[in-house]
Parts: sequence; structure tokens; C-alpha cells
Amino acid sequence: MSIILDKVNYVYSEETAYEKQALNQVSLKIEDGEFIGIIGHTGSGKSTLIQHLNGLLKATSGGIYYNGRDIYEEDYDRKELRSKVGLVFQYPEHQLFETTVFADVCFGPKNLGLSRKEAELRAFSALKSAGLPEEYWYRSPFELSGGQKRRAAIAGVLAMKPEVLILDEPTAGLDPWGREEILNQIASMHQELNMTILLVSHSMEDVAEYVKRIIVMNQGSILLDGAPKEVFLHQQKLEAAGLLVPQVTYLMQELKGRGIPVSVEVTTLKEA
Ligand code: ADP
Repeated sequence: MSIILDKVNYVYSEETAYEKQALNQVSLKIEDGEFIGIIGHTGSGKSTLIQHLNGLLKATSGGIYYNGRDIYEEDYDRKELRSKVGLVFQYPEHQLFETTVFADVCFGPKNLGLSRKEAELRAFSALKSAGLPEEYWYRSPFELSGGQKRRAAIAGVLAMKPEVLILDEPTAGLDPWGREEILNQIASMHQELNMTILLVSHSMEDVAEYVKRIIVMNQGSILLDGAPKEVFLHQQKLEAAGLLVPQVTYLMQELKGRGIPVSVEVTTLKEA
């Protein structure tokens, strides 16, 4: 698996009064098995970017290549692309609608045309990978806590067996414990399933500790792209992009590492 973006531009509402360039000359390569954090202040273009990766949005100009193939070629199967690049939207639990969690997770695979048995096998393993205990599988999604619902929704995407999993703000709305739990779960999914994972967040703190590569977005462009340690060297740039001062992240990591509970809530310097 590989994804290449070559000078991708995207303009919303082109040639209207609301015209907005949301992506500006974005070039990057994502390799098989990577665990990447896409970080940026609200409005920096993160959601627009990830919607290009599975073909939901079409670049205004520039190219996107999945496994070396141009996804904008006329005969390219973009429906298949959407199943290979699984996207977990913000607050995915809002899309749970079946009477039980299990039925919900089976919905996607059944829709792919798989037999009931195959769909169920996929649902079993997806729910396990997403870390939802079995006692919740046959309950109504509405009976679950916020963190459990989110796991159920992630399982729904995992059951499609994507090659790449993209999660947009997977910790949104969860308490600090729920956030840590879900991030740990995602990290273990990356290890166990050996899956390429992209984690989108406005919070450096959430992501830096887990991922191996950070792509920092600012005003529709890639500001920095590298290992967390390398990215942290560019403090001024990060501050200018409205992101957390890395020393604070370092300090928090250090305290956590020593088992000292960190209760300060630090996210971004400037809130939107
Ligand atoms: P992020 O995910 O980092 O918050 P987005 O990709 O949602 O950023 O937005 C990037 C820019 O595009 C922002 O300025 C936003 O206001 C604008 N934008 C997003 N969606 C739309 C839309 N549907 N129509 C017009 N502008 C949009």
C-alpha cells in the first residue's frame, strides 16, 4: 500500500463569493504500515485533506496515486478505494443505527455482498480489535457510554477490512481517561493488525506520544512533516500555527512516564 499526493490543491465554492482555498500544493507520500498524526489548528485543512485520500473530495488540481495508480483516471474504481481507505468521521457514534451493536458492525460487510456468516466473523474480530468487551455486543448502541460507542463505530469501519484507517479527532468529546483509552486502543490496533493508521487531531498532546510521524497542517499547507522529535525542534513555527509548545508535551510525557498523574488540560494556545 502507498498513497502519493502530488501538489494537491482544493478550493471550496470556486468562483463564488465564498471561495476558499483549503489545500495549497500539498505533496506527501504515505507508506505501508505507517502510523501518522495529522495535526493542525481548526480550519488548517485536515478534514479536507483526509477526504481526498479516499476520494470523497476531488482535488481542484494535482494528482493522487493509490498503489501507484492515478485515482482520477476514468476507469479507476473509486468505490473500491473507499473500502480500502476507511474513514472514521468525527463523532462516528452518531451513525450507529441498528438495534444492536453487533448488527451495526455487520451492516457494512453485508453491504459489501458478504454472506451472513462471513459478515459475522468480520464483526467478531473487528469488535475485538476495537476493544469493546463482549457483554456490550448485543445491546442497543444507545445503552453504551461515549467511549464504548466510539469503539463500536470504529469496529464498523474495521469490519470493512480497510488497508488504511483514518480517524478524524477520535478523542473528541471524551474525558481524559476515555481519550487515553481510545488512543491506546488505536496504537494496539496499529501493532496487532499491522495497519496503516492516520490520526487527525488539533492536539499535539494527544498524538505525539503515539505516532511515529507527524504532519503539521497550517492554512492548507504542510508546515512540517517528520518524526515527533524533529517536528518539536521547530517551536516557533508550531507556535505560529497555534499549536502547543512542545516542551509542555515533553514535560507531560515525562511526568506520565514516572507515573505522576497529569491533570492539567492543555490543548492549543489559541482556540478557534
Ligand atoms: P480542519 O479539519 O483542519 O478544521 P477543514 O478542512 O475543515 O479544516 O477546513 C479548511 C478550510 O476550508 C477552513 O477555512 C474551512 O472554513 C473551509 N471549509 C471547510 N469546509 C468547507 C465548505 N464545505 N465550504 C466552504 N469552506 C469550507
